[in-house]
Parts: sequence; C-alpha cells; structure tokens
Amino acid sequence: MTTIGCEKTYRGRLAPTPTGCLHLGHARTFWIAQQRAREAGGKLVLRIEDIDLARCKPAFASALIEDLRWFGFAWDEGPDVGGPFGSYTQSERRNFHLEIWRHLLEEKWTYPSAHSRKDLEHAPRAPHEGEAETIFPSHWRPAPDSWTPPATPDGINWRFRVPDGERIEFVDGRCGPQVFEAGRDFGDFVIWRRDGVPAYEFVVAADDHAMGVTEVVRGEDLLLSTARQILIYRALGWTPPAWFHCPLLRDANGQRLAKRTAGLALRELRAAGRTPEQLRAAWPTT
Ligand code: GLU
Repeated sequence: MTTIGCEKTYRGRLAPTPTGCLHLGHARTFWIAQQRAREAGGKLVLRIEDIDLARCKPAFASALIEDLRWFGFAWDEGPDVGGPFGSYTQSERRNFHLEIWRHLLEEKWTYPSAHSRKDLEHAPRAPHEGEAETIFPSHWRPAPDSWTPPATPDGINWRFRVPDGERIEFVDGRCGPQVFEAGRDFGDFVIWRRDGVPAYEFVVAADDHAMGVTEVVRGEDLLLSTARQILIYRALGWTPPAWFHCPLLRDANGQRLAKRTAGLALRELRAAGRTPEQLRAAWPTT
C-alpha cells in the first residue's frame, strides 16, 4: 500500500449484500462513503457481500452495480474492474476466511457451540436496528478439553469467545466516543454457521483488514457490530480502521428503509423518471 509520510492512503469501501434491490438509504450511506474517500484523495472499493449464497442472487449483484453506476458512483477496485486486493466477491474468498478461522481456533478465540442460534439470534447477516441482543450465557461455553479441533468448521456453529468485562472504546467519526463492554453489551457471537456459511461479523472484519480499508462508513445501526469487530481485530493483532456511522434514512412513518420498502428502490425511482441529482437534493443533510 502507498503511504505518504506516516499517513496511510485512505481506503474506503461500499459493501452491499445482494439480497434485493438497493434503495435510497443505501445510496445515501454509500454517497457519504464516496465523498469521504474523495475528500481524502483516497480509493474506494466495491465488495459484494454474497457469502450467504442461499439468500443472495447473482442477478441482484449485477443489478446493484448498474444502479450504483447510474446514481453516480465510481469505484477504483471491485468485481467488475478488478484490483490488487481481489476477489471483491466475498463468496470467492472462502479459503482466506478459513485461514483466519483456523488462526482464531489455534489461539482459542473460537469454540464449537451446539446451542442453536435459534435460541439467540441469526448470523451471518448484519444485525440491524430493533433486533434485541440476547447475551449468550458464558456457562454454555464447552470445557476447553471437551472437544478436538477439527480441520473444517462445517457442521456446527462456531462462536467467538468474548473477553468478559473488556471495554471496547472508539471514537466514531460522526457519533463521537463509544464505549461497550464485552459480556454485558453483547456475548459470544457466531463467526461460522453450522450450515457452512461464515458470519457477517467475522468476514467483514477479515475482508476490511485484508483489503487495507482505513475507514468503514456504514449505517449507525451497526455500532454494536463495530464493538464485536474490534474484538476480532484485537484477537488477530490487527489495527482496526476508523469508523464513521451514518444516520439512517427513514420513511414518512419514521421506519428505516429496508430492501422491502416499496417505491424507494433506486431502479423504481429511475423508472419513475427521477434523476440522481433530484434524489440527492431531497434527502436530509443530517
Ligand atoms: N453487507 C453488509 C450489509 O449490507 C455490510 C455492512 C457493513 O458495511 O459493514 O449490511
């Protein structure tokens, strides 16, 4: 990576999940990400987060690239333009994810958990606003000598063992100082699902690090995920990026926009004759 003095060149990313069409809320968060990369004279990376192949569709991935380009996005590296940190399609990075999982296993940061996720929550998708956090009870951790490390993670859930009582502090570029405590604000979380799919919390940290991302710009509903991801960075001895969590765009009823929100998908707006300039002029500035 190029460095100027001791400053790292800014590298930002757009990390959409192709489970549906992009809506105006995505566009706004991504626009902030693009602006921050441009203002810093840095690079912008597009990474398609399609690890959950049962939920993600290649047609959504190509549609989102088209929608982003129409809206005025331009990235320096991505699945369609290549780049030195590829693959930029998350499902193609499995060997790398396995390597990092093995590392966590060797360092005893992860353990197999027979307790079904049904009891608590569902990974790998990013947990979003309104989803209650249920703390995984630490007494559900298996005794260290009660299992033999396997060659692959498949067939059982793997949890990250959080260091109970450890404080995670960071200063968010928009939300300011944040403090979380492991074991109180969140418990052991799944990093690899028993159906063989690695979890969001884990792969996003691994890929952001591997792609040299220096600042993560995303929705403020992911602040708690950031605390979890910082623990992954710490466990692996990696330096975390800077964080910038954006406000969520809401509909007239105050509900955050979702992929299922009708009428606000970029392609619907485009078909209705709206231009990106009009759409940007209409969204709130905070
Ligand atoms: N693919 C994740 C999502 O769409 C990315 C979240 C993030 O930016 O870390 O929710």
